[in-house]
Amino acid sequence: MKLELDGVSKRYGTATALEDVSLSVEDGEFFTLVGPSGCGKTTTLRCIAGFESPTEGAVRFDGESMVGVPPEQRGVGVVFQNYALFPHMSVGENVAYGLRFVDTPGGVSKETRVSELLDLVDLSGFEDRDPDSLSGGQQQRVALARALAPGPELLLLDEPMSALDARLRERLRRQVKRIQSELGVTTVYVTHDQSEALAISDRVAVLNGGRVEQVGVPRDVYRRPRTRFVAEFVGENNVFDGVVESRPETEGFVDGVESGGRSGAVEGRGRSGAVESGDRTGAIERAGTTEVEVDGHRFTLTGIDATPGDSLTFCVRPEHLHVRGGENQLRGTVVDAEFQGSTTRLRLDWGDHEITVAVPDNEDESFELGDEVVVGFDADAVHVVE
Ligand code: ATP
Repeated sequence: MKLELDGVSKRYGTATALEDVSLSVEDGEFFTLVGPSGCGKTTTLRCIAGFESPTEGAVRFDGESMVGVPPEQRGVGVVFQNYALFPHMSVGENVAYGLRFVDTPGGVSKETRVSELLDLVDLSGFEDRDPDSLSGGQQQRVALARALAPGPELLLLDEPMSALDARLRERLRRQVKRIQSELGVTTVYVTHDQSEALAISDRVAVLNGGRVEQVGVPRDVYRRPRTRFVAEFVGENNVFDGVVESRPETEGFVDGVESGGRSGAVEGRGRSGAVESGDRTGAIERAGTTEVEVDGHRFTLTGIDATPGDSLTFCVRPEHLHVRGGENQLRGTVVDAEFQGSTTRLRLDWGDHEITVAVPDNEDESFELGDEVVVGFDADAVHVVE
């Protein structure tokens, strides 16, 4: 089933929960709404399910407007964060509850349908158990089986894993993804966890303040965030505000870190005594490069479409910063070094910025608080945001 939201806004009195949200979810797609608390994810889901009516705009299922169609007639399965199983019913009765308004799909008996569904969520033989005797992950799978029992064409999942511990969450999300693709049911998933969104989705919509910031396949949203908000919310990022040099000079790179004062650092920007900046010598002209001044420090970027004098915001992922490597270098002071197994997350003070570097684990390298470390990134490792 194809789902469309067309210019949906939702206001509660003077408060705006959603502003002009337009989305299109394809038949069989696993589509995720991701964003921080209060950005409007649950409100969007409730408008789709029919628990709320949009103040403006339309929700359409296969092109048909859902205005005035009550939730139970929308053919939608919903799973909430808190399982919402009935404690006085057995697991099997809970799943059968999903069938109370409908004929069982395929005309099979209720018992057969319940056991098919429990099999699907890897809980065969759990029919007679009490929900209370199950783990959180098992309870959530029962809730999923109940939502799927009537064979909905649209499945809505609202933070279904947020009450579970990290390892269980990862396992359950793989199961949910497998079940969803086996059934081919169009699915809208809500999470505030951007790594979960990237891992599980065909496409994601990043919401912020009731608006859609970006829609795309996970890799695109990660690699090519459109806005600063997306750049910082999806994965970690180092974001720099700079100004494109108004007098491109015929120079290139010097080895290592520049030192000494550089006269004429961007007027009206930059902080005095910021970071190392300097006259570059021994320069080689490079075609297609753009010089960008950030707080009195000059970086050389490639693949940038910008006019001299433009303000430019660009980002560099922690994994694209290399200790002692890279064409554009800066020197920062270690304020935190967090060992994470395969990498160490190094945080450096660099003027007003905190720079995050993902350093591949190396037994011969360790970082102490207060160490001065030179890190750099290549000219083509940057991505410009609006
Ligand atoms: P969370 O991740 O914390 O659940 P969310 O992204 O799902 O957040 P929503 O629950 O959709 O956000 O809320 C969006 C905004 O709308 C919030 O500012 C919220 O306070 C407001 N809001 C939601 N429901 C109501 C309501 N019934 N009355 C007034 N304001 C509401």
